[in-house]
Amino acid sequence: MRSKFYLTTAIDYANARPHLGTAYEKIGADVLSRFHRLVGDDVYFQMGNDEHSTNVEKRARELGLDPKEYCDKMAEAFLGVWRALQVEPDRFIRTSDSDHVQTVQALLERMRANGDIASGTYEGFYCISCEAYIKEGDLVDGLCPHHRQPPQRLQEENLFFRLSGYTQRLLDHFREDPSFVLPSSRYNELLEILERGLEDISISRKGKGWGIPIPWDPSQRVYVWVDALINYVSGAGFVADPARFSRVWPCDLHIVGKDITRFHGIIWPAILLSAGLALPKRVFGHGFVRMAGQKLSKTLGGTLDIQELLNTYPSDVLRYFLMREIPFERDGDFSEERLLERYNADLANDLGNLLQRVSTLLWRQEDGAIPAGMEPEATLFGDFRPLKNRIEEGYRSLVFHQALAEVLGWVSRLNGYMAEQAPWTNYRSSDTSKARRTLANVVGGLKAAFVWLLPVMPTKAAEGLKQIGVDPGGTPGLWGLAGETSWLFSSGRLGQTRTLFPRILEA
Ligand SMILES: [Zn+2]
Repeated sequence: MRSKFYLTTAIDYANARPHLGTAYEKIGADVLSRFHRLVGDDVYFQMGNDEHSTNVEKRARELGLDPKEYCDKMAEAFLGVWRALQVEPDRFIRTSDSDHVQTVQALLERMRANGDIASGTYEGFYCISCEAYIKEGDLVDGLCPHHRQPPQRLQEENLFFRLSGYTQRLLDHFREDPSFVLPSSRYNELLEILERGLEDISISRKGKGWGIPIPWDPSQRVYVWVDALINYVSGAGFVADPARFSRVWPCDLHIVGKDITRFHGIIWPAILLSAGLALPKRVFGHGFVRMAGQKLSKTLGGTLDIQELLNTYPSDVLRYFLMREIPFERDGDFSEERLLERYNADLANDLGNLLQRVSTLLWRQEDGAIPAGMEPEATLFGDFRPLKNRIEEGYRSLVFHQALAEVLGWVSRLNGYMAEQAPWTNYRSSDTSKARRTLANVVGGLKAAFVWLLPVMPTKAAEGLKQIGVDPGGTPGLWGLAGETSWLFSSGRLGQTRTLFPRILEA
């Protein structure tokens, strides 16, 4: 039986177009989703927009639009960017979707029935950009540490969730499963918070405007973070498709930014425990893409237009660069200079050029036929299986930069082998069988490389495969085949040869 894999990203506030930092998260998740599909898992991949925020409502009013109407436009804008980046979720959920609204209300009823919700007065600080309550001790010079804005001072009647009652159960869970939150730096942070003990939290805001009404008290709206977290349950089909829900829940992996792992690693599991649902298997807090050392975020003014980058670089290239250059669990810098360097070195020169050279020789000498019945070269394929395992493990554990370094290391070995064997001289001296053996090894090695690159570069890697005679769409079990030399060395004919990565001269 195929194993199921339910994967989510954080959902995004709909009040600004996605920036490169947001795209980094979605691309990472899409890479993982494509990897799991390739190895044959039954994948369900969800992303979406977080619409019930005060900022979304404010932005809509500024534009003279109804919030829902504004969110419809923004959902189109987000989907346009995701399509352009080849990010393809199975469901793009919006928190105004009716199945989500019903799910939020159903879960709150369960939590209430469980005795976990009570009224109280909230008194303290609230950052509008975080859409979160801030403890006085976390302010820096009286400002929100993330947004450097003064918070609001709030005093209102709210509903409270008895989070404190879940401290021990969460502590036990964390201690039993140290990979519940990854990377371990994030796990340790959350464990410390749990060891200090949790306080109850406000889960509603007063008001009748934009937002999901508390079912038993319509004068209160569900606090936007509680509303947002529940999307993972709604999208799995809790109300809309219970059969699917029982198949895909619990979620296998929530990919979120490192700044919101606390919500996902502590508050979210407590909500699920209170509602009597199973906990997700893992929360992964990725690092940030920085420009000039600052997190790319609209609030800080550090924007970089994705569409503009896509005018110069195909989305495969942008995906490759982000995944190769910036380790997923750490912060890293984006620079277009570096993008251009990597493009020319890794893709145009190492990979593209090798494909071009081997194809040119095969067309000239063999009329496009890939030599059959050739043996794998021991110096190349002797340690092929461990290499394949390392690449697979890299993808599986979200160490994408390492997986890609392995693939490109393999390509550079193929280049070295091709230069050393110099098959063109064998053809000149009529040592045809030696030349054929070399070319079959290089083509076989390229087949594997392109299959391994499919999660990151779905279009370019598929094009590369077609050029060496493989139809990726029509070859079931491709990932497994790429680990078998019998398939890599099977006979075939080249497809049409075209330059896969034309050199780009300057940024
Ligand atoms: Zn803030």
